[in-house]
Amino acid sequence: MQIQYKPKRTWLATIFQVEILQGMALTLRRLFSKPITRQYPEEKPQIKTGFRGQHALVRDPATGLTKCIGCMRCAMACPSRCIRIRSHKDKEQWNRRLIDDYRIEALRCVYCGYCEEVCPVNAIVLTEVFEYAAYDRQSIFFNMEQLLANWDRFAAQMNQPVADYVNPFWRPRGLAEHSLPVGKRMSVTPEWSGEQQVVGRKWQQRHNQEESCKGGVDV
Ligand code: SF4
Ligand code: SF4
Repeated sequence: MQIQYKPKRTWLATIFQVEILQGMALTLRRLFSKPITRQYPEEKPQIKTGFRGQHALVRDPATGLTKCIGCMRCAMACPSRCIRIRSHKDKEQWNRRLIDDYRIEALRCVYCGYCEEVCPVNAIVLTEVFEYAAYDRQSIFFNMEQLLANWDRFAAQMNQPVADYVNPFWRPRGLAEHSLPVGKRMSVTPEWSGEQQVVGRKWQQRHNQEESCKGGVDV
């Protein structure tokens, strides 16, 4: 069955072509409104904290090497299967796992942030860098050196000390501070605390309930 839409038109609307007048009125209004287009790349957009952009491996300031401990959680959590890690055990350091190579095929990444969420030591991050388009595939197939260099560049352009940098996606939502791995128990700015983002709504509700119970108030 075919249904045809027949708009109702009065004879006045037909004579005066009301739609044309409406269109012209809209054009006239837009002529005097503030433009919403941005003249990129001259005008840069404001990037919010927690934006999931270019990947980086955080460099440990103590050793100058990656903070990664080769636990493979990021590779297992990655839904795009675009993380490859090679590591070996160092017998001289009580079988500590050392990273030989860490690769991310960024063209396959869906920027879900799972890798940084599951990382227990905050070694992998999605930085706030979004301008890294390239003409060749190899430039966006990051190896360990490139990922460390990405971090160095990002850290150099940050307006705050690297130690204070907290990407909210490093902290899984809904988990209390004490439930997080030690490496993730970092102080956060107020805008990312409580109801805003970090601890999650469910945790906050439970926390409020516990606080009420301690105070002897039924909820
Ligand atoms: S952001 Fe998601 S898709 Fe991209 S590398 Fe991390 S886990 Fe994989
Ligand atoms: S989860 Fe973190 S520590 Fe574990 S392999 Fe991935 S980057 Fe390295």
